[in-house]
Amino acid sequence: MATGLSKTDVSNPRVHFDIYAILEGSQELYFGHEVQVNVNLVETVKLKIKDDLSSEPRSIEKCYLSPTKRKGVERRCLIWAPVATGELLGDKQDCGIPNTCAKPECPICAVYGGLEPGKKTLIGRVTHGGGVAVQEMFAVEKQRAMHPAIISNNLSKKEEKPIPFKREYNQPGILYPVSNHALSITDGEFAPVAYAFLDSLPRIGSGNPKGIAIAESPKDNQPLLVVDRYLVPKRKRPVISPSINDPEVAIAAFNRLARKTGETSNYIQEPHFERWIGDAALEKLQEYSSNFVDAILQQE
Ligand SMILES: [Zn+2]
Repeated sequence: MATGLSKTDVSNPRVHFDIYAILEGSQELYFGHEVQVNVNLVETVKLKIKDDLSSEPRSIEKCYLSPTKRKGVERRCLIWAPVATGELLGDKQDCGIPNTCAKPECPICAVYGGLEPGKKTLIGRVTHGGGVAVQEMFAVEKQRAMHPAIISNNLSKKEEKPIPFKREYNQPGILYPVSNHALSITDGEFAPVAYAFLDSLPRIGSGNPKGIAIAESPKDNQPLLVVDRYLVPKRKRPVISPSINDPEVAIAAFNRLARKTGETSNYIQEPHFERWIGDAALEKLQEYSSNFVDAILQQE
């Protein structure tokens, strides 16, 4: 079955893009009850880790910045983006949530995908990953929440967790490694993806307050951000293992995976592969964002 996408020309080649980042809750965030969560939420996940090779695995709980919710916030940012005509982009395109227009020429649906029930489906080419926090949930309340009796009780009865544990999911400074991936898109199509990634950051969170930032490396104050543009998937991908629960270890891993030993440049170029790191990556995303505003939003 054909993809339905039209052929591009040599001046608009299709390539792949990846964004890797470690995000940081920049102030208290309310982590809503999973069941009640409707928009931009933070959920929790449970996993087992071993503190070292000889120790017994133990269950931990971590905050979770769900990739599907990030995608939803990003799409919303595009729908609500102001156009020079005085409309919002979603109104101009007649494209919303859940009624996406699914037109291949829509700058939102072209990359985020769309669905007209019973008529047509446009497959999204942007996918979202990561989101499992680095730090474990609240050290103070961990013991209570992790008590075996409570866990088994929850599992058997599917009852709500104890209220103190549920209500206090606010902690600034939690790190969330995330990634966005774009498959076979042009530079022009990546522009709204870059815009949406950056524009969604202050708007993530359920209720108020909202906002998350790209964390900085304490070593050189560079944003923990990598952008790849490629045909050949090269280099290591700065993806952080969910089993890491120490922020320093996570940041060191991110920096180690972003470059080869001894490299210091923020720009790496190899045949069919480019990588921007830190400030250079942020500038690259901002450049694409500006292109989106000029080419789409500022057009009558
Ligand atoms: Zn659309």
